[in-house]
Amino acid sequence: MSDRFQKAQFASIIGMVANVILAIIKGIGGVLGDSRALIADALHSASDVISSIAVLVGVRAAQKPPDSEHPYGHGKAENIATLIVSMLLIVVGFEILMDAVSAIWSNAKQSTHPLALYIVVFSIIVKEALFQYKNRLGKKIKSQAIIADAWHHRSDAISSVVALVGIGLAMIGDRYQISYLTYFDPIAGAIIAGIIMWMGFSLGKEAVRISLEIVLDEEETEKFNQTVKQVNGVKRIDSLHARSHGSYVIIDTKISVDPTITVDEGHAISARVKEILMNHFEEVHDVHVHVNPYYD
Ligand SMILES: [Zn+2]
Repeated sequence: MSDRFQKAQFASIIGMVANVILAIIKGIGGVLGDSRALIADALHSASDVISSIAVLVGVRAAQKPPDSEHPYGHGKAENIATLIVSMLLIVVGFEILMDAVSAIWSNAKQSTHPLALYIVVFSIIVKEALFQYKNRLGKKIKSQAIIADAWHHRSDAISSVVALVGIGLAMIGDRYQISYLTYFDPIAGAIIAGIIMWMGFSLGKEAVRISLEIVLDEEETEKFNQTVKQVNGVKRIDSLHARSHGSYVIIDTKISVDPTITVDEGHAISARVKEILMNHFEEVHDVHVHVNPYYD
C-alpha cells in the first residue's frame, strides 16, 4: 500500500469521524438548546456521514473485476450508491424544510439556549481546521479528490455559520424582546435544509450523467487519437470511439496496418495500441482493437 494512498485514506477517515462526532453533539445540542438551525446542521453532518459510507461501498463494489454477467465491470455500482444517497438527502432536506416552515407559520416561539451557540462555534472551528488540513494535504500529494473533500468541509463551515447567525439573532431577539428576531433560528434551519437538498440534487445529477453511457466527443477523444498514431505499425486510424462507463473509459478503435505482414505481427501492433492507451490514461480500463489491411 503506497504512502500516498495511506495518507488519503487517513484523511477521509478523520473527516468521517469528525462528522459522526459533530452530528451527535449538534443533534443533542439542537434538541436541548431548542434550536431548529442546529438540528438541521446536525442532520447535514449525518447526511455527510451517510454519503461517505455510500461512496466507500460504491468504490469497493466498483473495484470488483469484470465477470461473465458484468463484462464491462462494476463501475456503475458507484453511481447507484450515489443515486440512493442523493434521494435520501432530498427527502431529509425536505423534512427539515417543512418542519422549519411550520415552526415559522405556527408562531412556535422558542428560546434558543446559549449551549446551541457554543456548539455551533465549535463546529465552525472544527470544519475550518479540516478544510485547512485537507486542502494542504491534497495539494501536497496532488489529489483532486482530497481537495474537493476539503472544499466540502469549508461548505459545511458555511452551513454552520448560517446556523450561528440564526441562533445569534434568535438569542438577541429573546433577550431584548424583539419577537421577529426569534424567527431567524427556524429561518436558518430552512436555509440549511435548502443546502442539503441542493447537495442531493447535484449529487444525483452527476450520478445520472455518468450512469448513462456517454460517448465522448471528438475533442475528448483527440488525445487518444494522437497517442495511437505514435504506435509503430499503425498506418491509419479508421475509427476511434471512447465511451465513459461509470468512472472509467472504454475505447473501441479500428486501425489499418500493412496488409502483407503476418497475423502475428498485426496482433502485436494491436496489443501495443491497447498497452499504450492503458498506460498513458489512468481512466482507460479496456481497449478493443480491430485490425484492417491498409490500402490507399
Ligand atoms: Zn456537508
